[in-house]
Amino acid sequence: MKTEPSCIFCKIVAGQIPADIVHRDEQVIVFKDINPKAPVHLLIVPHEHVDSLFTVETQHDNLMAHIMRLLPTLAKQLGLDGFRTIINTGKSGGQEVFHLHVHLLGGWKNSPQLF
Ligand code: 5GP
Ligand code: ZN
Repeated sequence: MKTEPSCIFCKIVAGQIPADIVHRDEQVIVFKDINPKAPVHLLIVPHEHVDSLFTVETQHDNLMAHIMRLLPTLAKQLGLDGFRTIINTGKSGGQEVFHLHVHLLGGWKNSPQLF
């Protein structure tokens, strides 16, 4: 499995730096975003270092399906009746951490302003 020693999310996966982890399984960890943009703001992060959606390959199909299926499961566990998912890709797409991750945001009282 590919890891990147200088990558902050690889360090969190390896337990080298702390995070508020809410879920862990054989493919991903899920932890609270350090700078939350919603009442609930989680990051779903694969154990494997993948830079971004641009470098996702066929070998990651199972991982990607796992993440998509995990999102509503986590939302239900958190008591959310709706949530928003974001994947920032590339610098011009707003990506700051170049280890693939999916944002799960929710918990607003009213619908969030969309774009
Ligand atoms: P991006 O812009 O790459 O999609 O999102 C990166 C996210 O990671 C940001 O929302 C940022 O707040 C979060 N983040 C960056 N560094 C850390 C960290 O060390 N710990 C945690 N929990 N979140 C982080
Ligand atoms: Zn990484």
